[in-house]
Amino acid sequence: MLLYVPSLAFADWYGDARAMMGTELSVYLWSDDSTNGEALLEEVFQEAARIDRLMSTYKDDSEISKINRLAANSNIPVSDELYQLIGKSLQISALTDGAFDITYDSIGQHFDFRSRQRPDEETTAAELANIDFRLLLLNDESQTIRFRKSGVRINLGGIAKGHVVERGIHLLRANGIRHAIVTAGGDSRLLGDRRGRPWMVGIRDPRKDGEVPISVPLEEEAISTSGDYERYFDEDGVRFHHIIHPATGNPVSGVHSATVFGPDAVMTDALSTSVFVMGVDKGLRLIATLPEYESIVIDADGQVFYSDGLQRPQNPAAE
Ligand code: ADP
Ligand code: MG
Repeated sequence: MLLYVPSLAFADWYGDARAMMGTELSVYLWSDDSTNGEALLEEVFQEAARIDRLMSTYKDDSEISKINRLAANSNIPVSDELYQLIGKSLQISALTDGAFDITYDSIGQHFDFRSRQRPDEETTAAELANIDFRLLLLNDESQTIRFRKSGVRINLGGIAKGHVVERGIHLLRANGIRHAIVTAGGDSRLLGDRRGRPWMVGIRDPRKDGEVPISVPLEEEAISTSGDYERYFDEDGVRFHHIIHPATGNPVSGVHSATVFGPDAVMTDALSTSVFVMGVDKGLRLIATLPEYESIVIDADGQVFYSDGLQRPQNPAAE
């Protein structure tokens, strides 16, 4: 007798979240088929782990750690993927007048937020000379990097998570997925919509844990938030956190969170860090020059500022 056995296929949402890269990586997707849905979740986590092995300064054997050890002495060959991301970081440094600068780590390396450790003033003053994106020399022909002096260090913490979520969505799209969200810490990339409705992405209250006063409806876009509440410690009323002003070497004050959304997660990640550093006025002026990107900034008084594209249209008759 021949039995017809229907395949165990369920069209449904599939999701998982794991601790990775010092934060949480989550993947949520719609699939017609449970086997495929589960397998694709796993593939996105594997892809993130691969990128982390390349770009983590916490791993001594990562490519970036090797660059940090050797690039002051000679030209170091760099893999395509890392070379492109470093190149993009330098473009964003130029675009932001140096607010975004991956050499921030020359001072950043002296912070340890878990053990409440920070550099003393002498260390900060000395290492400040090692923070300047112009100290990085890329050679496109040989695809190599060189540091102009010793003491320089690079860290892609302000852009790599955007790359991870962008790659994750790329992988899902290539495998036929049409609706998904991949989030790494403060960076999310959305694929399509939430089956007929937009995704609602919340912006946290920077000082009230768990409260989400602002929600943005988005489809097929990326959104990143940089805040002073993710990695920090408070000392005598001063908050020491993980976003460093390249001009002073100290954690940036004045802004509590900066959110940027637009088509590309690598850009929104780097731009949210940049707007945080630049502050409300300069930051929103930068966003006004980028027609595809919008921003929401919450300052140190809790006041919320929106980029031009989010303002209510002016009524010419009312003028
Ligand atoms: P999160 O890591 O919470 O998503 P961000 O995207 O704002 O937040 O990235 C903050 C990270 O960016 C820091 O942990 C650090 O690795 C890196 N960083 C800090 N200051 C700068 C800076 N001025 N330019 C570029 N990267 C920075
Ligand atoms: Mg960022």
